[in-house]
Amino acid sequence: MRVCMIGTGYVGLVTGACLAEIGHDVWCVDVDEKKIQMLQQGNIPIYEPGLEEIVKRNLSQNRLRFTTNLEEGLENSLFVFIAVGTPPNGDGSADLNFVFDVAEKIGQIMKSYKIVVTKSTVPVGTTSKIKGILSETLSNRKESFLDFDVAFCPEFLKEGSAIEDFMKPDRIVIGTENARTAEFLKELFAPFVMKENRILCMSIPSAELTKYAANAMLATRISFMNELARYCEKVGADIEEVRSGMGSDSRIGSAFLYAGIGYGGSCFPKDVKALIHSAKAKGQDLSILQAVEETNKTQGDWFSKKILDHFNNDLVGRKFAVWGLSFKPHTDDMREAPSITILSALADHGATFRAFDPVAMDNARAFLGDRYIEYCSDCYETLEGCDSLVLLTEWPLFRRPDLDRMKSLLKEPVIFDGRNQYNPKVLQKMGFIYISVGRDINQPN
Ligand code: NAD
Repeated sequence: MRVCMIGTGYVGLVTGACLAEIGHDVWCVDVDEKKIQMLQQGNIPIYEPGLEEIVKRNLSQNRLRFTTNLEEGLENSLFVFIAVGTPPNGDGSADLNFVFDVAEKIGQIMKSYKIVVTKSTVPVGTTSKIKGILSETLSNRKESFLDFDVAFCPEFLKEGSAIEDFMKPDRIVIGTENARTAEFLKELFAPFVMKENRILCMSIPSAELTKYAANAMLATRISFMNELARYCEKVGADIEEVRSGMGSDSRIGSAFLYAGIGYGGSCFPKDVKALIHSAKAKGQDLSILQAVEETNKTQGDWFSKKILDHFNNDLVGRKFAVWGLSFKPHTDDMREAPSITILSALADHGATFRAFDPVAMDNARAFLGDRYIEYCSDCYETLEGCDSLVLLTEWPLFRRPDLDRMKSLLKEPVIFDGRNQYNPKVLQKMGFIYISVGRDINQPN
């Protein structure tokens, strides 16, 4: 089946590549000429394990093509996916301009029946507006006879394991207005659920809300644990022990119960905001989510304060080694990474840094600049001449470091661990001052 994927970012590129991998004929379209040129040569603009191999293989077998020409992409494609960004507006609502712009362009160009499927995360009612834009544009062209259907299929992939998530999904949600469109989409996605049918068909508004609800639930678990971690420190409890105690309850489960420095990335922060905003517009306060957002907003400051407290609020002349910059491991994505707020807060107090991230260094430079950060090529190199270490992203590489070597390289054996990667008892026994999240007894804050 021929597919046109509009928007070749994290979602569009992974979706397009995986659809090609199982045999569909895919055209990926993007307005970013540089990105398209790179992709045409088999070079991948993002870090995503396993993606390069799939793109190269399908490019060489002509099942995957990249273009800036929408007309070329649309021609003969039955399915047209919209996978462009929906960044937050200043008031927290989702900016839908990219989505609506694409819908208008499809309406201006299409020449035959299309199923227009939105994959971007959008508020309830957006797919219906897309339908309106398509109808209006076709009517302006005086070609209202051209038939189309709309659908909404949210994307649940996680950056860092996107290929695995897409190829073996927990579920595929298909939101349609009629059975015919649902049947077409079921056929398109059938190869991904051959072992077990995990396709859930529902109405478009339910599908639109499902995506926000899933992200909001995951964000809620994170903020819940972060708030509990703060309380743990006041009462001498250990959040890691609490986590395993509560997570082993099968009604709760162990996923997404890690305390840390707050959620980031291009999805959770913006999706929680957008859901709060769109519910409010309908007169519905989502007070739980407002609290989730508030806790997340202050979690980085709470962690920075631990560092400031340790140095009596004076970081002038202090240099910190930083391990990890991306918003989570296995990705180079720096969007809304907690490292941005934490490092800039510490820099405001005079701190400078030597930082290392296994894959996000180039993106980090674009976000953080190099005014107060030196970028190093190895995690031990960062420690040279530094007063202490701040661990911000839990890359596996940082899990079992050479602690003796670390101690000999740091000026003072102090570790601030924003991801609870180490055993406090082991570190304390080795003479480290180890400050982590929800495990530091008798902290004044
Ligand atoms: P992205 O910023 O990585 O990619 C968006 C792409 O769309 C860019 O390459 C941009 O150049 C392109 N684009 C913009 N306008 C265009 C146009 N008129 N025509 C063609 N291309 C155009 O974004 P992303 O992370 O892939 O996210 C896309 C959507 O998917 C968002 O709504 C996001 O919330 C949602 N989503 C993202 C993830 C994730 O992990 N990144 C997961 C699930 C859902």
